[in-house]
Amino acid sequence: MNRTEILSWLLETRPERLEELWRRADAARLESVGAEVHLRGLIEFSNFCVRQCGYCGLRADHRGLTRYRMSAAEIMECVRQAVDYGYGTVVLQSGEDYGIEREWMADLVRRIKVETPLAVTLSLGERSDSDLVAWREGGADRYLLRFETSDSQLYEKIHPALRGKPSDRIAILRRLAELGYEVGSGVMIGIPGQTYESLAQDISLFRMLDLDMIGVGPFIPHPRTPLGEAAAKLSAPPDQQVPNSELMTYKVVALARLVCPGANIPSTTALATLNRAEGREFGLMRGANVVMPNLTPLQYRVSYEIYPAKACVFETATDCDACMKRRIISIGRVIGTGRGDSRNPSRRLKDTKKKREDAPCVPCQHLR
Ligand code: SAM
Ligand code: SF4
Repeated sequence: MNRTEILSWLLETRPERLEELWRRADAARLESVGAEVHLRGLIEFSNFCVRQCGYCGLRADHRGLTRYRMSAAEIMECVRQAVDYGYGTVVLQSGEDYGIEREWMADLVRRIKVETPLAVTLSLGERSDSDLVAWREGGADRYLLRFETSDSQLYEKIHPALRGKPSDRIAILRRLAELGYEVGSGVMIGIPGQTYESLAQDISLFRMLDLDMIGVGPFIPHPRTPLGEAAAKLSAPPDQQVPNSELMTYKVVALARLVCPGANIPSTTALATLNRAEGREFGLMRGANVVMPNLTPLQYRVSYEIYPAKACVFETATDCDACMKRRIISIGRVIGTGRGDSRNPSRRLKDTKKKREDAPCVPCQHLR
């Protein structure tokens, strides 16, 4: 699918044509990643952040927010819950928090890998190369870093660089792939100033980056942020501005599946926030194959308020687990088992090549 076709789907309004898009995305999902829906246990372990992202409630300038950082013991408690619920992965997510030190994090990852069979996904923002190397060596399997938008001018406006540290998320994504991480990225949909053209470019970039995971969700304005306060003023002209709607999110989920058929794609909490009754299910029926039940202890969850009225904030981990599993079964899908690794064909090729390189050669084995 080229960029013009992507753009025409983004602009499509006829219900019968959209049914065709859902049908194609669902068929591609079934063929490439099967009927299983993988559960990734989400642990939002720190809400400290040095950044000033114009869209996010965790930005450093949001002084009213109560900040927390979970201890290793608290995180391990959540990790054990993930094992008990039968999940194959934990996702450790935080603000860009330099109070989380390289060695502390590497030790935590090592501990999870030694004590459990879980895959570990990290999402800690734009950390240094040495941090990313150390965590990979500690056993981290995957890294999530959304590029948010491929429009560089819009990106600079909504995601200001730190002094002396240009923000190049695309370069970091490429480096993560080199380090052997499964790489996840994505965008928000309907950022004020985001045009249909730039969203079509974002979707083409998913393919160019050959992503293993793609997370997309609607932009939800937070009143204590610059983008939340002035969303209307910052918008592109009405015929060009992408709406932050449920329908547009389904279109992007479906198109992401069609351009990267083997990727793991979550039906996100932001989508469930727009449609609590059926958002998750529609996401799963229109291309997604992953859900991320929240394991963050309730006392912290309310403070991980990246946008207001976030779904699943007041449910315990046990409630979240039961709710997600019920939803998966209600649409005739299967609860995933195992780690749910990437089915991206080029990733599998790289892994096989790596295994071959790492294996001792036959004559050496003989000598041993
Ligand atoms: N700090 C890390 C980072 O920025 O990659 C990880 C945590 S950050 C909260 C995770 C994602 O939340 C961001 O990549 C962004 O897309 C999303 N997000 C932040 N504010 C949002 C908002 N107002 N509406 C929707 N999604 C939002
Ligand atoms: Fe910090 Fe991530 Fe929020 Fe930006 S999106 S303010 S980096 S938590």
